[in-house]
Amino acid sequence: MNGRPCACGAHGCLEAYASRSAIEKRIEGALKKGRESVISDYIEENGKITSHMIKDSIERKDELITQCVDEAAEYLSGGIASIINLINPKLIVLGGGLIDAVDYFYQRTIKLAKAKSLPIPASQTEFKKAALGDFSGVIGAAFLER
Ligand SMILES: [Zn+2]
Repeated sequence: MNGRPCACGAHGCLEAYASRSAIEKRIEGALKKGRESVISDYIEENGKITSHMIKDSIERKDELITQCVDEAAEYLSGGIASIINLINPKLIVLGGGLIDAVDYFYQRTIKLAKAKSLPIPASQTEFKKAALGDFSGVIGAAFLER
């Protein structure tokens, strides 16, 4: 309720808090307010923020980028913990460019999701990265058309 606006038209969707574009908006907002970050060098070169820039910035121990990714992992893990507690899945597959490029984000999200879930369902849920990487959604959609 009263959450951040989402690209789908609704407010407060997990997408508006835990996606690469959500992280990008947080970073851009902080930079506009004068926060410093090594990612500014990459943006000057390329114009826009990519998952690989986020990865490199975390590896360079950038405080702002780590903070923005930690915040997204906090939200995403909360959503995943709700799914674990509600339907007790055997497997959760996480995909997309950010998960693919930024292992820190993937590992942190899993760790937090397990900590926020009920102990028994958490111990029964396995996590994997999507095998098809950033193209998983598109390839899945193509198979639905058959
Ligand atoms: Zn939405």
